[in-house]
This record gives sequence, C-alpha cells and structure tokens, in this order.
Amino acid sequence: MSELSQLSPQPLWDFFAKICSIPHPSYHEEALATYIVDWAKTQQFWCERDAVGNILIRKPATAGMENRKPVALQAHLDMVPQKNNATEHDFARDPIQPWVDGEWLKARGTTLGADNGIGMASALAVLADKTVEHGPLEVLLTMTEEAGMEGAFGLQPNWLQAEILINTDSEEEGEVYMGCAGGIDFLSELPISRVDIPAQHLILEISLKGLRGGHSGADIHLGLGNATKLLARFFAESRDKLDLQLIDFKGGNLRNAIPREASAVVAVAPEQEAALQQALQDYLSILQNEVAPKDKNVTLSAQATSHSGQALVAESQDRFINLLNVTPNGVIRNSDVAPGVVETSLNIGIVTLEENQAKIYCLIRSLIDSGKEYVVSMLHSLGALAGAKTEASGSYPGWQPDANSAIMALTREIYLDLFGKKPNIQVIHAGLECGLFREPYPHLDMVSIGPTITGPHSPDEQVHIGSVGLYWQLLTALLKAVPTK
Ligand SMILES: [Zn+2]
Repeated sequence: MSELSQLSPQPLWDFFAKICSIPHPSYHEEALATYIVDWAKTQQFWCERDAVGNILIRKPATAGMENRKPVALQAHLDMVPQKNNATEHDFARDPIQPWVDGEWLKARGTTLGADNGIGMASALAVLADKTVEHGPLEVLLTMTEEAGMEGAFGLQPNWLQAEILINTDSEEEGEVYMGCAGGIDFLSELPISRVDIPAQHLILEISLKGLRGGHSGADIHLGLGNATKLLARFFAESRDKLDLQLIDFKGGNLRNAIPREASAVVAVAPEQEAALQQALQDYLSILQNEVAPKDKNVTLSAQATSHSGQALVAESQDRFINLLNVTPNGVIRNSDVAPGVVETSLNIGIVTLEENQAKIYCLIRSLIDSGKEYVVSMLHSLGALAGAKTEASGSYPGWQPDANSAIMALTREIYLDLFGKKPNIQVIHAGLECGLFREPYPHLDMVSIGPTITGPHSPDEQVHIGSVGLYWQLLTALLKAVPTK
C-alpha cells in the first residue's frame, strides 16, 4: 500500500489502495459499498442507494459553474475474482495485494480489479479533490456488472439528474468509446448415463494448463486458446485409438473469461497408458505449434489419481465430446460498420460434468441483435442434434453509437488539446452498462474512457500507471469544459 501512495495522482491511488484492501467480488460488494457510503456522509455529500444497491452521490458545482450541464461519473462496484490454481486466496475475505512492476501495477496471483477499481477511484477522487472544477456532479456506482449487470438492469428512471454520463469502464488510454456489444448467456444441458469402471483400469487426471485466458469480449479477437475446446478436441481425436472412459471433465469458471485451464479424469486399460502419454505429447506439440506465439506456457499432462465414481457410457461420452468439439467458439464475424472490431462472438466459458448431465455455459456477444440471435439459433440446433436441453437467458442490449453525440465530440476536442493527437473513437466488443442506461434515460449523452488495462478478468490483469495519469488529466479537463445547459 505504501508503494501506491508514491504514485500520482495521489488521491486517486489512495482510493484505489483502499478499494484493494476491501474484498469486493461480484455479489460481495456490501463491505465496499458501506465504506463508500460512510465516507460520502462524512464529506456531507447527498448519498442514496436504490433497491438493487446502486450508490448515487451528488456533489454541488464548483462556484460559478452551477449552470453547466449536470454530469454523472459512473463505475461498477464489483470485480472479477480470478486466481491461478496455485494461489491461496479467498476473494470474499482476503485483500488484493497490488505491486508495482516497472510501468505497471499488478496483483499477486489474482485479478487486480483495476477493472473498474481505477474508474471508481477516479470518481471518488473527483468528489474528494477540491481543485477539480466541474458543474453539478453525480457519481453512480453500480452493482454486479461482471456477473449479471443487476445494478444496470435495476436502474430506475428519475433518479439521476445528469444529462451527460461518463462511463469509466473502458480499458485503453487514447481510445474513446461511443458504443458497445450486447450479450446473452446460453446453457446446454446434456443428459448422460454412467457405468462401472472395469476393475483393472487406471484412473488418470489429464490437465491442460498455462493458457493466457482473458476477457471473453475485449480479448476475443486475439484468438487465444480456450482450454475446454482444446481438451475436447484431444478426446475427439484420440478416444477411439485409446479407448478412454471419461469420468469427469471441467474447464473454466466464469462465462465471461476465456478458460485458461481444463481437466478430465479418465479410466484407461493399463496396457494403453504408454500410448496415452505418447498421444498427449504429440497433441502438446500440435498445440505449441498452433497457439505458442500467444499462449507460450501451455502444458498438457496426465497423472495418476483416484476416483470412486462411475464413467460415462460410450454413447453419452460420444455425445458430450462431439457436442463440445463442434460448438463454435471465438470470433464469428467482424463488423463492416466499425472496421477492426468484432461484430459477433461467443465464448465457451464453463463446462462441468455432473452425475446425470453435462453443462456447457456460453456467452454470446454482438454489436447487433441479429448477430446474437444467429449464434443462439446455431447453439439450439446443435443441442437438438446432440439431444441436449438448451436455453438462452440474460439478454442485454448493446449501446448503439450516436454519431451526433456532443460529449463524444467534446472528449475528442479536449484530448487533442491536451495531448496534441486525436484519440481513436471506437466501438468495443464487450458489454458496457451504457446500453442498459439508455432504457430509463433515453436522452443521456454518453461516452466511455479509461486507463490502459491488459488481461482483465485474468490473474495477469495489470494497469499501466502512466496511462492512469493521462486518463485523470482527460477526465478533469473534460469536467471543466462541459458546456452550459
Ligand atoms: Zn469492467
């Protein structure tokens, strides 16, 4: 924490250090929310929580700026809890441990929560800092963005007074976002039957590890390996040769993170073990050739383990492996309207094998509604072929770009003034809450900015320290420049 207090701008980093010290994964935001509400009260700010837990704080305008358009600064309260398997960390209890590594701030073995902790810290710093000039100001902190967007879904009309909203949840300094993808969850449940394992068979755990993982939207264009898909492919290609019997399979643990690890427990005849080890080695070389430039630490191994359960019957195993192997994953289509941006994608986020069924959870994203619907229809069709029960749920809208947005034009102008170059005006292939804010607030003029964060939603998450300073300069200059009503 002392390391963070050396960084500038100091009020922002002080708040970020505090945020790291109070656990706040999705659905466990109360401790942090309580801290913020108590702090706002000690500062004598108007502060209220709504029925879903969102926090709204109001700060009066700087003297002489009362007639400016009112602005809301917005961030989400929660963070994605991800850690490497080797890291001991209880996200509901243990503080995040940030550390400075050269130009970057990282966390020890876990996600850092710079997404959206830096945005939240910047909003609180604007409230605390008496030198920042602004018109009537609101800070809106929303609940559970990373899991179900409950806060944004539950936002009621006539609560915000703002006419302009600055979302702080984007992750590339130098880019200004004016639109985002919508999303929908998809679950396939495949019934399975089990049978006893032959007495002489060896029980092995096959583990595929070391993939980079990342954000299932913002990183999907990178073509990173998805551990569940890669392991399913191994089974599809080698099950007949090796006569493997699947007992357990799991991959990934969040629908919006690209799975870094997957594992399977199998039964195999003792005389096949050497052939299995060889097949794993051969497949690892194939993977290294295919994904090594990006996923250089990929490993694949089999280790003896014990298991008391039953294996899948051959027919169930075939259906499960076939369904997983054939389910598309990654980029489906690039946008023609926003060049260089993915239009439609999906991520197979979580795969589990229970006693009587297999579950495959996907998150589909698209800039356009029909793109989501297309992938949903493909997955329904695959489910029908495989005999799986399928269900799409939790659809949320994208944020349709508005070419005439005054706040977008102002942000571009201020950025050019400050840094002598034009920012990149972008549409992001990830879910921002802005699309949902449009429903209760159809006339809200919105823009999204943020510092540079890489590897969000993974333990590699890091924020570029210098970019936080640039982001703060832009944010404060923008607040000062907001025009009169
Ligand atoms: Zn975020």
